[in-house]
Amino acid sequence: MADKSGVFKIWLVGMANPTSFNYNCYGEGTMYAIGMKLKTMFNQICQHDASKFASADYSWDPGTPADTDVVVYVCGTKERGSIIKSKSGKPIHDSASGGTYPYTGGMISEVYLREIDGAANFSTVAANIIFHEIMHNKLDAPTEKTVFDIHSLGGGGLASPVVSAGTALTDKNIALMAGALSKKVKQYTAEMQKALL
Ligand SMILES: [Zn+2]
Repeated sequence: MADKSGVFKIWLVGMANPTSFNYNCYGEGTMYAIGMKLKTMFNQICQHDASKFASADYSWDPGTPADTDVVVYVCGTKERGSIIKSKSGKPIHDSASGGTYPYTGGMISEVYLREIDGAANFSTVAANIIFHEIMHNKLDAPTEKTVFDIHSLGGGGLASPVVSAGTALTDKNIALMAGALSKKVKQYTAEMQKALL
């Protein structure tokens, strides 16, 4: 434990200006709740022996990610604001609520929150969907794979193809992610300033 250091950071992009949204669930309180859920999960992962990081944090503000950080584009819909779609990209997991695409310009992970509009425990569902895409981002989408397919080899729970508010973070989810946090996966950062709708 003593040799753990540094902060693993999750950069959330989009909806940074909630005033451009008419949906109540996309306000600053929800953005904070989503970020804190992710921070709590990743802090738990950092405590695992395989993690070199001491702790985790998140940001909804633009910045410069470290080479081990992850970036997730939080879109309203896949049809509008989707970066993967604009690249004619074929995501590794093309679900209704999110996708991750190993683009030549960097790994793109994104989620589509309109899909879960009005869901009970909205921020928890959103955080779990974001976590699932981060698993793809670090584990099975990069050239250097930790597992070939998280859906079958990721330990169930949040690695499952469909996640909900009640989906658990399993011990294997934690172990796999702890070992992959320090993996350098180049992220797509070119549109971190983009307003996503
Ligand atoms: Zn998936």
